[in-house]
Amino acid sequence: MALKAVRKDIYFDDAETRPVNARHLYLERKLCQTIKHAYKHAPSARAIMDKAGVKPSHICTIKSLVKLPITRKSDIIELQKTKPPYGGFLTIPAEKVERVFISPGPTYKPIHSASIKWFTQSFWAAGFRRGDIVLNTFTYHLSPAGILFHEALRHCGATVVVTGTGNTEIQLQTMRDLKVNGFVGTPSFLTTLIKKAEEMSLNFRNDFALERAWFTGEMLSPSVRKTLEEDYGIDTRQAYTVTEPGGAIAYECAQKSGMHISDDYVLEIVDPASGKQLKPGEVGEIVVTPIHNKAWGLIRFGTGDLSSYTTEHCPCGRTSHRLTGILGRTGDTIKVRGVFVVAQQVDEAILSSGAVSRYQLAVTRADQRDELTLKAEMKDETLDRQKLMNDLNEKFQSVCRVKIDRIEFLKSGTLPENHQRIADERKWD
Ligand SMILES: [Zn+2]
Repeated sequence: MALKAVRKDIYFDDAETRPVNARHLYLERKLCQTIKHAYKHAPSARAIMDKAGVKPSHICTIKSLVKLPITRKSDIIELQKTKPPYGGFLTIPAEKVERVFISPGPTYKPIHSASIKWFTQSFWAAGFRRGDIVLNTFTYHLSPAGILFHEALRHCGATVVVTGTGNTEIQLQTMRDLKVNGFVGTPSFLTTLIKKAEEMSLNFRNDFALERAWFTGEMLSPSVRKTLEEDYGIDTRQAYTVTEPGGAIAYECAQKSGMHISDDYVLEIVDPASGKQLKPGEVGEIVVTPIHNKAWGLIRFGTGDLSSYTTEHCPCGRTSHRLTGILGRTGDTIKVRGVFVVAQQVDEAILSSGAVSRYQLAVTRADQRDELTLKAEMKDETLDRQKLMNDLNEKFQSVCRVKIDRIEFLKSGTLPENHQRIADERKWD
């Protein structure tokens, strides 16, 4: 079914469509300035570079970033304990800090106003404009989310209804009273609101004015997206946001085929084991260096999220590279014969045909080689096993880029309810 609204003025600014080479030069110029600024003003950034034996002038290309170590959330927590309150990453005088955000850890993150635009492109790409009335269901306290999204929506011209989380009945009444047409929150909260409305015998599609939704903080599964778009006529977009570097690192356009990487970051996809920068299509950890935050000298922040990127042309006209989606956390992944196998990709490969109800993928070691065994419970025992085996093998190889060595079919109910889907049974002796 057709969506209720389609926007014509699609770009936030000319930078979104600049030539690929011009963007690359821009990013490297900003990177160079950022590194110099951080070295000069942030004691911890300087200590990291000194320890690595690197001068700021050595880091003026994206490739040269590998000379520096990755800084993780755990490092920031430790540094903020030893060098309170900002861990030696503050690059402006403390009295110029406009506000402080707290994220779990706790970590304290100083912000000044120049950072507010960071989310605007993502809301613009999702179609938010003047005249829209948008429910912002992210929390406004003890988290940066609520107020930063609020300001970005204002920057697009939209009117924001400040609701925060919870209170589903009040949210629903507000949506009807104010004819709210935009939603900002998580897919699960929007689903909860719709369910609640239906419990109250309302027809969500007819009794509410909701046209578009912007999600972050949680995976939007293809099935939930399909339901929201086809059954309820809501145009959905996702953005990839991370608190520590602060902002929408990547965001979807109308194509909904990967997330465009924001020009406010230098983004690398890095092999978590070797630290090597990976090429398009290769899965690794997202590592970001914010290049627009003058207050915060954080360089090479390791997000712990796994993705890959594509340099393919996007029909929307934006020229930035795209993240192909968040495939999991570095913990949900194993390396098999040199290739990262990510839980979500395995799910896609094994479960998408609908023939397998439950599975376990086990990695063992034989003759100095990793061996992959798939144990699969068939939904329908009368299916042609040889054909299913071939299909599974082919799909697995195309999605995960390694071959399964053995497939064993199990009777339905053999694997326990909370079994480990990926089991690393290798013995390294
Ligand atoms: Zn696009």
